[in-house]
Amino acid sequence: MTEELTKSQAAIQMEDKYGAHNYHPLPVVLSKGKGVYVWDTEGIQYFDFLSAYSAVNQGHCHPKIVGALQQQAETLTLTSRAFYNDTLGEYEKYICEYFGFDKVLPMNTGAEAVETAIKLSRKWAYEKKGIAENKAKIIVCENNFHGRTTTIISFSNDEDARKNFGPYTEGFIKIPYNDIDALKEALKDNNVAAFLVEPIQGEAGVFVPDEGFLTAASEACKQANVLFVADEVQTGVARTGQLLACDHENVKPDVLILGKAVSGGVYPVSAVLANNDIMEVIKPGQHGSTFGGNPLASKVAIAALDVIKEEKLAENAQKLGVIFRERMQKLIAKNDLVTTVRGKGLLNAIIINDSPESSTAWNICMQLKENGLLAKPTHGNIIRFAPPLVMTEDQLHECCDIIEKTIEGYKGG
Ligand code: PLP
Repeated sequence: MTEELTKSQAAIQMEDKYGAHNYHPLPVVLSKGKGVYVWDTEGIQYFDFLSAYSAVNQGHCHPKIVGALQQQAETLTLTSRAFYNDTLGEYEKYICEYFGFDKVLPMNTGAEAVETAIKLSRKWAYEKKGIAENKAKIIVCENNFHGRTTTIISFSNDEDARKNFGPYTEGFIKIPYNDIDALKEALKDNNVAAFLVEPIQGEAGVFVPDEGFLTAASEACKQANVLFVADEVQTGVARTGQLLACDHENVKPDVLILGKAVSGGVYPVSAVLANNDIMEVIKPGQHGSTFGGNPLASKVAIAALDVIKEEKLAENAQKLGVIFRERMQKLIAKNDLVTTVRGKGLLNAIIINDSPESSTAWNICMQLKENGLLAKPTHGNIIRFAPPLVMTEDQLHECCDIIEKTIEGYKGG
């Protein structure tokens, strides 16, 4: 006799059968989201503590952002960039003034924006800095995560991301993260065009550099006539308690890469921002994307960025982040299953006291799910916690109670 599948089981089976196995999700099937909550197909409610890797900073299905999408969807969705449209300029002005740059180059995904920044940096190096053709190098950091394209994985040191995807793109120098001496040494090479860095390494497990590192790095780049390129795809737009993670040190990147929360998770929108002296090296036909900066994306991004300011989400992330880490410190003091909590604003991680190869962090996430909170391990024994920034203080305490109860009650797989 064949047993009837639940809705969740049926959805999982279908993904498993017809989808490429390029992710390994927790076994929960979501069908609805609102604010800090998501619901599964059986109607069970959870706190979302991953926020689509920090894309849903404004909370799920934010009415203002969804409203902008709906309105524009009935008016004009996509035009060829062969013609002008009446929303792109409005969006470009808005985002440039919002982040304080002369110009923006609109793209769709984070990885595309990183690729754009790499191309922009190289072209600037040849045409403005005077590096000989094909000699430009970009300094990157060990354990970086900038996306999944062929060029980007060429400078990753994650074996899963790289192995059997070669041959790799040349022109990258890798240095340890948070190592100003290594950066200064690498900058001695006159063929360096740019330093590409995440102000906090999110995907690697929320590594926060020492205070002063970003300032020192940006100054060293300036002295060497090298572009300081900040990948704020994950850290950007209020997540870390400031609009940008670079703002914690008042550092202004030469090139700023944004994605994810620029659209509040409603539509893929990414952007590269720079001033005229850099952006002017890109001429018609040299870069582009069919969907980049389309009317739907433009209106969604304006609404999403409005929400960040209107609802003071950076301030909220800053305040709640302090409370979260305090609560986790108290937990660490009385329980040795967690060794560390680190992060900024509401981008945090805890380290589980077991090897990265063990399944302890995964099992804890499974139990967190049973207790109504969704999070996922990264790199084995690290659990990243990144809830939507619209969370209230009471909700955060409720979530900390769930985490505490789960850790304290953990009895092994
Ligand atoms: N850069 C950083 C810092 C990221 O965290 C990510 C995604 O997690 C990306 C780039 C790639 O973004 P996307 O998945 O939208 O291509």
